[in-house]
Amino acid sequence: MSAFNGQSNSQLILALSKGRIFEDTLPLLEAAGITVTENPETSRKLILGTNDPNVRVIIVRATDVPTYVQHGAADFGVAGKDVLLEHGGEGLYQPIDLNIAACRMSVAVKNGFDYETAVRQGARLRVATKFVQTAREHFAAKGVHVDLIKLYGSMELAPLVGLSDAIVDVVSTGNTLRANDLVEVEAIMPISSRLIVNQAALKLKRERLQPIIEAFERASQSKSQ
Ligand code: AMP
Repeated sequence: MSAFNGQSNSQLILALSKGRIFEDTLPLLEAAGITVTENPETSRKLILGTNDPNVRVIIVRATDVPTYVQHGAADFGVAGKDVLLEHGGEGLYQPIDLNIAACRMSVAVKNGFDYETAVRQGARLRVATKFVQTAREHFAAKGVHVDLIKLYGSMELAPLVGLSDAIVDVVSTGNTLRANDLVEVEAIMPISSRLIVNQAALKLKRERLQPIIEAFERASQSKSQ
């Protein structure tokens, strides 16, 4: 059921992705009395120790975090709402919005492309994105016909080389769009990262997990105030 099979119910595995989510989760872990003893940016290790011998952190791709937690290979994890919407959230308990790694999901086009007119005239838009589910739902709700082109990265390139008319991507400062002569034409939804917990682990390891969930909740609330 859980990773590292045979471990006792006191062992916890937390799934995180490198970069912003890892960095923004560290203060929440500290609030729960947990210090990660290795840095994933300098270490090649994928399983990191903490000051608590019963808690380990695994480093996985952001889009894989829900999969590890869903299957119980990690007991809990932190994943962006963007990633959770694409995953579907099956088998996951999502107790709290951690208010970290905040950004927004937006539609962007090449500077000069008249998005409003294209939409008003009922043109069929080619949209490149990693976030196919979110894009499909957004354009369906607006009644806009789209051909979705699935990409795995560097979406900003697609309108520049004529692969698509628009992209759906996460935007934080907007610097990446500006650097590539793209403009944000529609904000779809705000995005932040959520704590996710394996449903079976929540029952079997509640005594260990609950205090951590509560510490995360307190720390993320005080941060957002
Ligand atoms: P920015 O230039 O600050 O708007 O950042 C945009 C780029 O960073 C996009 O290509 C995104 O893929 C990535 N990005 C920014 N914020 C986040 C986030 N919270 N979660 C995931 N990716 C992000």
